[in-house]
Amino acid sequence: MAKLVTIVGGGLAGLTLGIGLRQRGVPVTVWEAGRYPRHRVCGEFISGEGQNSLARLSLLAGLQDAGACSAVSAAFFSGSVKIAAHALPTAAWCLSRWMLDDWLAREFQRLGGELRVGKRWTGEFGSGMVRASGRRAQPVAGGWRLFGLKVHARGVALDADLEMHFVPAGYVGLCRLAGGEVNLCGLFRSKTTVPGLARHWRDWLGGPADSVLHSRLADANFDDESFCTVAGLCLQPRHAALRNECCVGDALTMIPPLTGNGMSMAFESAELAIDPLARFSSGDLTWTQAQQEIATACDHRFATRLRWAGWLQRALFQVPGRATLLSLAARPGWLWRGMFARTR
Ligand SMILES: Cc1cc2nc3c(=O)[nH]c(=O)nc-3n(C[C@H](O)[C@H](O)[C@H](O)COP(=O)(O)OP(=O)(O)OC[C@H]3O[C@@H](n4cnc5c(N)ncnc54)[C@H](O)[C@@H]3O)c2cc1C
Repeated sequence: MAKLVTIVGGGLAGLTLGIGLRQRGVPVTVWEAGRYPRHRVCGEFISGEGQNSLARLSLLAGLQDAGACSAVSAAFFSGSVKIAAHALPTAAWCLSRWMLDDWLAREFQRLGGELRVGKRWTGEFGSGMVRASGRRAQPVAGGWRLFGLKVHARGVALDADLEMHFVPAGYVGLCRLAGGEVNLCGLFRSKTTVPGLARHWRDWLGGPADSVLHSRLADANFDDESFCTVAGLCLQPRHAALRNECCVGDALTMIPPLTGNGMSMAFESAELAIDPLARFSSGDLTWTQAQQEIATACDHRFATRLRWAGWLQRALFQVPGRATLLSLAARPGWLWRGMFARTR
């Protein structure tokens, strides 16, 4: 009899893995602490090899039906200055997490997966258990507290499908969604705790008074219900081979959000885990063999991009590094295309 696979976490990695396993006829249960639909802190910009993972799992058409739209251009701003505008070397997909997670959850159930919604797993991670529970919280990393904020708005005119605005404490990405909505999502850092974010988020996401970001939002109509925040982010890369649990998505390692590649890594790691887990379920691999195969495949796939993304993140959060990088970004073509390729 096929062995059950239990996935802890019904985010992008857990649900994609659950779908892939159900497509192979594997019995799967997903435990999800939250409920659907729900907003998540995310730039909602899907870019990278994970788009091909979705296509191979026959999920692209469904996501388009759920409202995914294509993004083909990006523009970069620092304060009051537009630094550069580029075509994206490869088109990205933009879809709200409200729609995306909900659609994947329904697809998993349609394929016969058991979804335990509102149930937090508190047990051990033994044989047949996959951790897809998202980032591991770390309040302070390298002396800094990293936190993310996101909100949807209407009435925001953009120059490009994706705009990146660099502000003193971090950056804010504005991404076009379907139906005239725009997603605002920022990553910031602070040496001290930042109380009252639920009341003061406009001070962070709105940018300095003389910035292009600030003027973009002058007539914005914010959807307050969509506001969410996440703190305790740790962007230190982790190796799967050093873990004693089977992990996918952010639970394995986080790539700096600036790259817009975290969702892709969730889809890719899920896809890499399907075949070893299906062979574990049918008795062709032991649990240790399956876990090692997944860890080796993930480390091999992600090591280079994590190195480049870490370097980019460090440079952009230091004043001299940021100035140099932004001036290089203004140059035509090759540098931008090179960084884009190496971080996905
Ligand atoms: C500021 C910011 C901006 C970002 N922008 C982008 C972007 O533009 N593009 C991009 O590709 N990526 C972006 N990302 C990254 C992206 O959001 C993540 O990489 C992606 O959500 C990871 O998916 P996941 O399934 O691993 O984790 P999650 O989506 O976090 O899902 C984990 C799930 O596990 C559940 N869970 C946790 N513990 C338990 C438990 N014990 N029992 C049951 N359930 C549990 C949680 O409720 C959650 O639903 C951004 C991240 C941040 C912080």
